[in-house]
Amino acid sequence: MDWLDIPTLAFVAQFASIVSLAVFVYLWRNNPQVRAFAWLAACSLSMCLGIFLILGLRFLPVTFCILSGNICLMYGGVMLAHGTRLLYLRPVNLLYWLTPLPMLCFTGYFTLITPDVSARVVIYSATAVLLTGYFAYELRRPLHPAGSNARIVLLTVASIDIAINLLRVWLTLVHPQHQGLLTSVGSNATALAFLNALLYLSLLPLGFMMLNDERLQLHLQHQADHDDLTQLLSRRAFMEQAEQTISHALQRKHSATLAIIDLDWFKQINDGYGHLAGDYVLALFARTLLRETRGSPVLLGRIGGEEFAVLWPGLTAKEASIHLYRLQNSLKSSPMEWDGIPISLTFSSGLAELNDNQQKFDTLYRHADAQLYLAKENGRDCLSGV
Ligand code: GH3
Ligand code: MG
Ligand code: MG
Repeated sequence: MDWLDIPTLAFVAQFASIVSLAVFVYLWRNNPQVRAFAWLAACSLSMCLGIFLILGLRFLPVTFCILSGNICLMYGGVMLAHGTRLLYLRPVNLLYWLTPLPMLCFTGYFTLITPDVSARVVIYSATAVLLTGYFAYELRRPLHPAGSNARIVLLTVASIDIAINLLRVWLTLVHPQHQGLLTSVGSNATALAFLNALLYLSLLPLGFMMLNDERLQLHLQHQADHDDLTQLLSRRAFMEQAEQTISHALQRKHSATLAIIDLDWFKQINDGYGHLAGDYVLALFARTLLRETRGSPVLLGRIGGEEFAVLWPGLTAKEASIHLYRLQNSLKSSPMEWDGIPISLTFSSGLAELNDNQQKFDTLYRHADAQLYLAKENGRDCLSGV
């Protein structure tokens, strides 16, 4: 492989590392709240420095270059896996940060005590395979349910990296290197390392730009589908998802129950304590509703000012009402407070269950709404349609 001229490859890889650093810094500046991009920028910086130090073998002390270069390259790999993990909102994994330590100890041994280039190449490549494995593992799910292109690019990059590192191990075991890393004539393993760095550092920014696009799409979709104040589904999203849920329940011949909830005398809360207090009560009610309906699959939406809708696939009206009675008790046992003043809050609810006459979401909704009117007429703070 004499056509792979090592110095040229090394300089091109160094250039690719600078470009990738620029792309990640750009992503970070444009998304300052996403810490993952700061780590990816740090990863590029670390790899850029690592390549520079390995190139510095020609004019800097060998021991310094080998040890510091390896630390930078390895921790670049750790920061890549760590940054990807943060992008998926997963907690820190300490194992990633500890993985390079044994490798660095062995590298120190094979540099300072028994200098051996081949041993270092094998240990480095094996650790790189492990770190890229962590990175690929973090990409196990798409960020956006409909997105897969970014993962295809990034997993391809990871597979190439793993394949090249395994090839380097094999080449080094078959043809051990006895000279310096950069001075071995026709050193395939070294040329492959720089070729790999070049591919890795030029394709990673492309993959992460695509992944960021998916992240933004997901964010926009969430904003469009959720109510700002309560974080429950918006009216439109609830109606769409409820229709799908009902048709699934009908196909499987399961029951389903829809409840429409309206807060009682809510205008009085606004008039008595102000609209801010009203907003606070709405948000807190939504959180209580979420808590008290946990445990079974459920769709929750805010369908109007102080009106909410709950759809339980698989539950009868009687079973669903248990959740609503629990909600009623919870509001009574721990009343909300605004400026230290307790606010008593009750709600009325109309329920409708799938049956032979009510097979469509529209009819179910109309029936639940009629039941809500009955509950209001019956004096409020009660359920109707159970
Ligand atoms: P009822 O028991 O008959 O339902 O009486 P109510 O006072 O709850 O009903 P009404 O329809 O008279 O009043 C609803 C109030 O909800 C009127 C409106 O100002 C208030 N509201 C609607 N959306 C919001 C909101 O986002 N924030 C606040 N603070 N108030 C809201
Ligand atoms: Mg109302
Ligand atoms: Mg009301």
